[in-house]
Amino acid sequence: MSVENAIALPQLETLFNHLADAVYLIDPKTSNIVWANTQAWKSLGLSKEDILNHSVLSLQKDVHGAPHWEVIADEIFKSDSYRFLGRHQHNDGHEVEVEVNTTHFTCDGKPYFLSVARDITNRVLQEKTAANGTSKEIFALNEASDGIWDWHIQTGTVKFSPQMKRLLGYGPDEMEEVLETWKDNVHPDDAPLVLSNLQEHLQGLRPRYEAVYRLKNRNGHYIWVQDRGRICEYDDNGNPTRAIGMLHDITDQKHVEMNLQKLASYDLLTNLPNRREGVKQLQMQMDLARRLDLPLGIAYIDIDHFKRINDVFGHQTGDDTLKKMANTLQLKLRSSDTVCRWGGEEFLLFANSTTLEDMVALAEKLRREIETVFADDQCAITISLGVTTSDGNEEIADALVRADTAMYRAKHNGRNRVEFNNRENPSAPMVPLIRF
Ligand code: GH3
Ligand code: MG
Ligand code: MG
Repeated sequence: MSVENAIALPQLETLFNHLADAVYLIDPKTSNIVWANTQAWKSLGLSKEDILNHSVLSLQKDVHGAPHWEVIADEIFKSDSYRFLGRHQHNDGHEVEVEVNTTHFTCDGKPYFLSVARDITNRVLQEKTAANGTSKEIFALNEASDGIWDWHIQTGTVKFSPQMKRLLGYGPDEMEEVLETWKDNVHPDDAPLVLSNLQEHLQGLRPRYEAVYRLKNRNGHYIWVQDRGRICEYDDNGNPTRAIGMLHDITDQKHVEMNLQKLASYDLLTNLPNRREGVKQLQMQMDLARRLDLPLGIAYIDIDHFKRINDVFGHQTGDDTLKKMANTLQLKLRSSDTVCRWGGEEFLLFANSTTLEDMVALAEKLRREIETVFADDQCAITISLGVTTSDGNEEIADALVRADTAMYRAKHNGRNRVEFNNRENPSAPMVPLIRF
């Protein structure tokens, strides 16, 4: 099985195979490995085919049987990113210390776990040495891809390892050895959380400092890093005097995560948010409408006689028409409006702070645009739209029934038109019908 088969995005497989970390796609139910990148099978001394005969239970020494896996799987489903420290079983019998970060996602209705495993043998060794080593000794243990910092808390001096300087694009004699050199380069959006994590560790509220954030390199670009460290020395009064930490560049891994997130939320054909994402965003907009006491305009859009397009011109032309239709709609909307692919040839549009009258006008503008843009095409499509508004004080389903009913009325009344239902009295519209 390829990633392409499993999650239908060809570029992703290439991206995964270039990662320095091991990546596993796992069936949550059985814990079976259904796909793994090159680094995964190589690092375990297995072949590309062998690894597919394994499961988490056979590879991970610290997962003890199916019941234990069930507990872990439950935790993974509950969290955005689940971290596990354990040991992988190499084919030659030795054990590899690993840190595994797992995220979950659904594709075509089937749940998957994506685990990224990093060999932390050197980190474990470094932590053991940190308690009494000098910066030089600790830095000597550093892996090529890592950066180490050594912070003398009371003087404010920070020594950065050559690898950390390289990671950030600096030369060996650059980077002034003060805390600000690091602090001033943390992305402003991430800084509050990063600094509060560090503060909480210094106050003894967290056993270690740990953060994932964006850090500016010498060129002014941000890279994603995973940073973790720990106090290793105290003065006679118990105040921390020295902390040592290690920084990893996780930019590639972050891009994979972001790609996966996009894959789970966007429709591949039209590039519009899919229905799942649409429901999520619609719920957010309904909540906002209720809190701000502003109307949310909703329109259900359905292409007229679309089946004929497929029947006469073929499925590919049908697909191309759907893409063009999605682009046309998006070009006509405000950035605050959302249109998503609700299903087959149906779309849902919602627009915040929009009254029923304005929403009907917007729907009519879109109807006319589609009619015009497609007029010269071999398949001249038109759309029917059903409009309603919501104040957010109702279930999504209730608002959608009104829009859907209005859309069916548009079909019934001849297609290529806009109809609407308002909430108070669906059968007696309160705004005058617009004459087209
Ligand atoms: P109406 O005006 O009553 O809406 O007629 P219709 O033909 O559009 O309605 P119907 O719901 O019967 O047909 C929708 C068609 O859309 C059927 C299906 O083959 C086609 N369709 C759904 N999704 C896709 C897709 O992703 N690609 C293509 N090419 N066709 C699709
Ligand atoms: Mg339909
Ligand atoms: Mg249709």
